[in-house]
Parts: sequence; structure tokens; C-alpha cells
Amino acid sequence: MIQPKYPSTGTTIFTVMSALANEHKAVNLSQGFPDFPIDAELGNLVAGAVAAGHNQYAPMAGLPALRQAIAAKIERFQFVSVDPDNEITITPGATYGIYTALATLLQTGDEVIVLEPAYDSYIPNIYMCGAVPVTVALSSDDFSVDWNAVRAAVSSRTRAIIINNPHNPCGSTWEEQDFDELSRLVEEHNLYVIADEVYEHLVFDGKQHLSVLRFPALRQRSVAVYSFGKAFHSTGWKIGYCVAPPEIMQAFRQLHQYLAFSVNTPMQYAIAQYLQTPERLLATASMLQQKRDFFLQRMEATKFRYSRPAAGSYFQTMDYSAISDLPDREFAIWLTKEQGVATIPLSSFYRQPPDLKLVRFCFAKKEETILAAIEKLQGL
Ligand code: PMP
Ligand code: GLN
Repeated sequence: MIQPKYPSTGTTIFTVMSALANEHKAVNLSQGFPDFPIDAELGNLVAGAVAAGHNQYAPMAGLPALRQAIAAKIERFQFVSVDPDNEITITPGATYGIYTALATLLQTGDEVIVLEPAYDSYIPNIYMCGAVPVTVALSSDDFSVDWNAVRAAVSSRTRAIIINNPHNPCGSTWEEQDFDELSRLVEEHNLYVIADEVYEHLVFDGKQHLSVLRFPALRQRSVAVYSFGKAFHSTGWKIGYCVAPPEIMQAFRQLHQYLAFSVNTPMQYAIAQYLQTPERLLATASMLQQKRDFFLQRMEATKFRYSRPAAGSYFQTMDYSAISDLPDREFAIWLTKEQGVATIPLSSFYRQPPDLKLVRFCFAKKEETILAAIEKLQGL
């Protein structure tokens, strides 16, 4: 008998809902992936790298030119200097980065604070490391962090906290004051931070993304995790990077060299060249902001309601209580099968979900996709 490494959660909700959407030919606003193409120039750079023969193993930590381009991008957007040789590692996506960061930092029996709702891989990953997740709920009105609750959850076994900013599924972003609270907490209790910042370039309304890298107390103790899948609308490429101070990064690479060893080479050449013009990333935020506004404006014709527009990420959480009393998972299944629109129920992001009537929509879609969904939703 194989002993499970974590309490079974079944198949991930993203796989379940996308499969259901395909089966019922529903408009798929569930799993987070854009349905519009990547920039053709980036595609050409990949094709060029393959044709130029960059098809063998890349260096274990990642192509130096790519790590340099990432360091320049961090300097440009976060105003901090990061050493590309010792503080950046290219990873096969952010999911891998999060797991490897946890495995680097945790020993058996350590506790890790997780703020719920939480991205679905965190808790299983913590168990896989022989550690114990301790969950703290975000406020149910605005999904802000209740710092008193976080403090109350810290014990002598707490080793780390995992944070996600901008947030999936809530679309919320952190304020300076949250970073001050976190800095005090980690210094007082000597904790590490795993900062999932995959939506770093999807921050709206003229705001800047605040990375943990900007805050000295956090910079010393964090592994910040990123994904090019989100920045370039290429979720299927599964390529990202992690940033951490040299001592942590060295320990991270000890694991990485025997987990993946390296990441596919032509993509690294292509992204390194593409990042020579980092301003392009600013256009990504404005394009997604327009999609958010288009989606929200058209949703006015339905009975779905929201408390605030997503400040970041490409998700909008919406309340369906004016439409149905069903629990959210049943509602999402009904909506897919009977009404032809797929979403993600918020309860999937909790171990013990409160009774919320919320579903998550992904608005990283072509206008025609959004309109096709709204047409089905407005009759409800
Ligand atoms: N963290 C969050 C919050 C995400 O939404 C995603 C999206 N899949 C990931 C991590 C994983 O990113 P990747 O596809 O690069 O593994
Ligand atoms: N991050 C994406 C989402 O939240 C999907 C990731 C996945 O399918 N595992 O929808």
C-alpha cells in the first residue's frame, strides 16, 4: 500500500472545471489561462533559438543572459539590485519554484502559515515536505490580512509563511502597511517567507507592484517566485524564476540540481532577448486592465455582484447569491453543465471553506469569449 503524502483533495479544481467545460462545450472562464495569442515576436525568437541550435542543456541555474535580463528588470521595476549569479535561478514554472523553496526551507514537523483562500498547490506541497500547514483566513469583506490572527497562529514550530501578491483568486494586492507588519513578524520570530508573485506584471489602476524584494527585512528571508507564463500569456511554457539571498539560493540549487537540473534552453534564449525591452511588460498590465473593465461593465447586465474590481491578477471573484442558494461547487457545476459558463468555486481555495457564495472568473480572454459568456449569464 502506498501511503499518501497529503490528505487527498482529489484532482485539482482547474483540471476538473476545464474538463467539464470541454465536455459541455461551455465558455471556459475557470482555469486561469489567456485564450489570446502570445506576441508573435516572442514566438519568432523561440523559433530562431531552435534554428540557431540552442537545443542542449542550459546551465543548472539558468542561462546567464536570462538571469542578467531578470536582474535588470528587477532593478527597473522594484529599484533593488539582485546578483544574477548568486540570487536568481530559472525554474520550470512557479509551481516547481514554490515546492522547491518549501523543500529548501522546511524540516519535518515545521509549521508554515498559509493565508486562505490559497492557491491550491501550497498545502499539498507543505505536507510533501513533512511539514504542517497552519491556515489563517483573509477577511471575508475585502480579503485583507488580519495581522492579529496571523500573530496568534505563530508557534515555536513556525518556520515560514507563504504569501501571494497580487492574489489568486481574490485579485487583491498588498499595501505598504502589510509589508511592515510582515517585516516585524518575521524578524521577531525568525521566519522565512515564500512570496508567490506570479502576477507581478498584472497590477492595475496606475499602481506599482510591491515586491518583498523592496523591503530589507523581507529581502533577507524570502524566496520570491515568478512565472513567465503570466507575464507573456504563455502558461503552457512552464518557465519562471526564483530570487533569494545567496545562502538560501545556494541551498535551493542543491535541490534543484537533482529535481529538474535545468530548464529548456531555446525559451531561455528567446526570453533573454525579449526582455531587452522591459517596457513591453507595462503594456501587459494595461491590456489586462482593459479586459477587466470590459468584463465588469458587461457583467452589469447580470445578477452577479462584486465588492471591488480586481486590483491585480486576471481574476475577478463574484457573488452569485442573487441567482442561487446552491453551495459554490454545486453552483459552478450547474453553471457549466446547464448554462454553459465555467468558473471556479472559491471553496476550492480553502481547507474548511466558510459559507461563501462566490465564484472566480478569469477575464484574460478575447472580447468575443467574454461576450459569449455574458450572453449566457444575463438570462439568469
Ligand atoms: N501561483 C499562483 C498564484 C498561480 O495562479 C499560478 C498559476 N498557475 C502558479 C503559482 C503557477 O504558475 P506556473 O504555471 O508557472 O507553475
Ligand atoms: N493558476 C491557474 C489558475 O489559478 C491554473 C493553474 C493550474 O491549472 N494548475 O486557474
